[in-house]
Amino acid sequence: MYDYLIVGSGLFGAVFAHEMRARGKSVLVLERRPHTGGNIYCEERDGIRLHKYGAHIFHTSYQDVWEYVNKFVEFNNYVNSPVANFRGELYNLPFNMNTFTKLWPDVRTPAEAEAKIAAEREAAGIGEPENLEEQAISLIGRTIFEKLIRGYTEKQWGRSCKELPAFIIKRLPVRLTFDNNYFNDRWQGIPMGGYNKLTEALLEGVEVRTGVDYNEPAVRAAYQGQAQTVVYTGLIDEYFGGRLGRLEYRGLRFETEGLPEQNHQGVAVMNYTEREVPYTRSIEHKHFEPEDRKAFEQAVTYVTREYPADWQPGQEAYYPVNDARNQELYRQYAQLAANEQGVIFGGRLAEYRYYDMDDVVKSALECVEKFVQIS
Ligand code: FAD
Ligand code: UDP
Repeated sequence: MYDYLIVGSGLFGAVFAHEMRARGKSVLVLERRPHTGGNIYCEERDGIRLHKYGAHIFHTSYQDVWEYVNKFVEFNNYVNSPVANFRGELYNLPFNMNTFTKLWPDVRTPAEAEAKIAAEREAAGIGEPENLEEQAISLIGRTIFEKLIRGYTEKQWGRSCKELPAFIIKRLPVRLTFDNNYFNDRWQGIPMGGYNKLTEALLEGVEVRTGVDYNEPAVRAAYQGQAQTVVYTGLIDEYFGGRLGRLEYRGLRFETEGLPEQNHQGVAVMNYTEREVPYTRSIEHKHFEPEDRKAFEQAVTYVTREYPADWQPGQEAYYPVNDARNQELYRQYAQLAANEQGVIFGGRLAEYRYYDMDDVVKSALECVEKFVQIS
């Protein structure tokens, strides 16, 4: 009998497993993919780590989380500075003085940029923003909305900016300085040697069984009664057999190409912001770890194009769709979960939240503390 049966070996499951093992508890991790790590898993080709489930940049303002992950792996000094490509015109992101001066050649100073944005905002005549389009135009004006937001967002979410909630766009910083750092957080980087090092260090000495889907009835039955507590990090609605209806997700499709070039696009992340190009991002993986000179300098590179896609149950679930219907349905599943004896639900899929990696580490550590106290 195990103390904890952990379903899912992503960051939540791996941190939880590590911490409980360190406290002398017995743990077993089940993972349905053929590998551990969840979405942070990297696949190596020609010595280059490919972010298999999309670009992952660790960034945080939680000092405790930063110190925690640094105990397991050393981080490099990568700073995410994506470039937007709109019909061949290149702009720095996030929206900052580099972007404004390129978009509006008559703009030179922060005051001039501010005045330009204010004039566009006024011309649009928007009161309290009621959707993403109105929010974006009030924040940054119509020119940037049309060139850098509308196409990208509509591709990403598969619906009009008028039907999307305003908060999605609030994630993006707007700056009146020449600063291309995409994140406002205090700490940022990529594990040197790749994310698998972090997962492997967390799961060292932990019993893991891959290729096992806990939601298969036969598997569920086989593990019944084998642990005091189950920690479930998969899709919450799937745990309950979708009995209240299915939660929706946004899917992704990745297309990876190896190229006989040293440096293809000069940056790790290039966003394609027009509607007509079907992918949202092109990732050139070697730029995440430029300090790995051997991998970086060879005349081979890997580029992955990221295509947003409609999602069907059974496919990988990437982004929760945070609209009113799904939030209400999630609330009902969360109620079922609260009544489920001996099961902890945690992580991005089980909590149906747009969590970043640092949020997941933090919530797993908090969850451990809570259960250590009561057990
Ligand atoms: P997951 O990583 O999804 O792990 C859950 C695991 O459970 C998976 O391995 C899954 O196979 C397994 N599982 C599910 N159901 C079952 C079952 N029934 N039986 C057995 N196993 C099961 N965050 C950042 O901080 N920075 C970024 O740059 C960033 N970029 C992202 C880009 C994309 C495209 C996406 C989708 C997410 C991004 N994130 C980013 C978020 C980040 O991926 C997550 O916060 C984090 O990895 C979630 O960890 P988790 O353990 O909650 O879930
Ligand atoms: N976004 C955009 N243009 C860009 C980048 C982002 O319009 O070039 C919008 C888009 O709506 C996206 C949101 O900003 O969903 C949040 O972007 P972020 O890069 O934080 O998304 P994630 O990394 O989670 O996919």
